[in-house]
Amino acid sequence: MANVARVLIVGGGIGGLATAVGLQQRRIDVEIVEKMERSEVYHVGIIVQGNFLHALGKLGLAEKAMAAGFPYDGFHNYDTENNHLFSQPPIYMGDGDFPAFLGLTRPALHKIQLDAAKDAGIPLHLGASFSKIEDKGDSVEVAFTDGRIGKYDLVIGADGWNSDVRRLLMGDEHAPQYTGQGVWRCNVPRPESMKDMTLYRGKPGGTTGLVPLTKETMYVFHVCGEPGNPRFAPETLADELCKRLEGYKGPVEAVRELVTDPLQVVYRPLYAGLVPAPWNRGRIVLLGDAVHSSTPHMGQGAALAVESAVVLSEELAEAPDLDTALANYVNRRFERSKQVVEGSRAIGDHEMNPNDGLDVPALFGRVYQTLSQPL
Ligand SMILES: Cc1cc2nc3c(=O)[nH]c(=O)nc-3n(C[C@H](O)[C@H](O)[C@H](O)COP(=O)(O)OP(=O)(O)OC[C@H]3O[C@@H](n4cnc5c(N)ncnc54)[C@H](O)[C@@H]3O)c2cc1C
Repeated sequence: MANVARVLIVGGGIGGLATAVGLQQRRIDVEIVEKMERSEVYHVGIIVQGNFLHALGKLGLAEKAMAAGFPYDGFHNYDTENNHLFSQPPIYMGDGDFPAFLGLTRPALHKIQLDAAKDAGIPLHLGASFSKIEDKGDSVEVAFTDGRIGKYDLVIGADGWNSDVRRLLMGDEHAPQYTGQGVWRCNVPRPESMKDMTLYRGKPGGTTGLVPLTKETMYVFHVCGEPGNPRFAPETLADELCKRLEGYKGPVEAVRELVTDPLQVVYRPLYAGLVPAPWNRGRIVLLGDAVHSSTPHMGQGAALAVESAVVLSEELAEAPDLDTALANYVNRRFERSKQVVEGSRAIGDHEMNPNDGLDVPALFGRVYQTLSQPL
């Protein structure tokens, strides 16, 4: 055991909550500080795959995610005229017990993770962050924006792609970069026939998808080039998404009619980046998007975060000392994360520049082969 008895996690998102539960299961005292006043996430969906469920299963939460979401095994590709191009056979990762894909709403996933942290009695300090973190060599002293102070054996920065902890450790040197694309999403009712993910390709610069989330709902996403990283006024979001869905025939044409409420549309510009090893400076270490921020083209950002949570928890409980634990953590996580971050980025670049010669199915095959290996 790495002599780590007390841990602070900055950020109560997918990676932070997973790490807290993993550490608590190993009887390591942990608390979370989360800057949002209320622990909540925006309403659209997330696509996860077998390796995510496998990692979540190690925290005892996979069955709950399965019950809350919509499992499916493959996806179908169409052109903008709704002609079928090809169907992707299922690729099972993690182990054979899980479906290839699971669509679920972000609030459903968040509730499962939050309930697990609450049931474990993990303190979650909301509406606060750190104001100062000082590594004293044998401990880390933290001052919080709500006036508290604390002393920890380790601080974990799980504060997302725009991580303040990363900025504290490394400045902006390894900050994720805008990729040139943005993603538009909106939840809509799911017709009974929509049982798999369906992608519509062929519009320059992007892809549209319909993804089942529950028996009642699915979401439409549209990923496309957004030159200059524009910002959009909230009241324009439905009109802007509808503009981008123009020209698609078939189910997307029908869904477009349902996109009327700007409050239901979420737009996010895409950033990607990978921090080179090591991922710690002394007793402060990074996890999740803070250190491996990938675009959603492989649907693997959440899986990377939860896998990293599982591996870091294991190492902190089992390695002989802290330096070894943190070195093992990055060694076990780096290549997998690199393949996802770079592979996802390459697919986005290919959407914007289809003549770049990228063999997308071959790329998926290589990365999924890596992700199918044990953690
Ligand atoms: C458009 C889009 C679509 C995506 N779709 C998918 C998908 O389909 N499948 C998938 O697997 N992944 C997807 N992802 C990626 C996935 O959401 C992330 O990889 C995942 O959320 C990373 O988890 P995290 O815990 O590192 O960060 P987050 O989940 O972002 O959590 C970070 C938390 O830290 C908090 N925080 C930030 N700064 C501070 C601070 N200073 N102090 C305290 N708290 C702080 C934030 O409020 C937040 O709660 C998508 C991403 C985008 C942008």
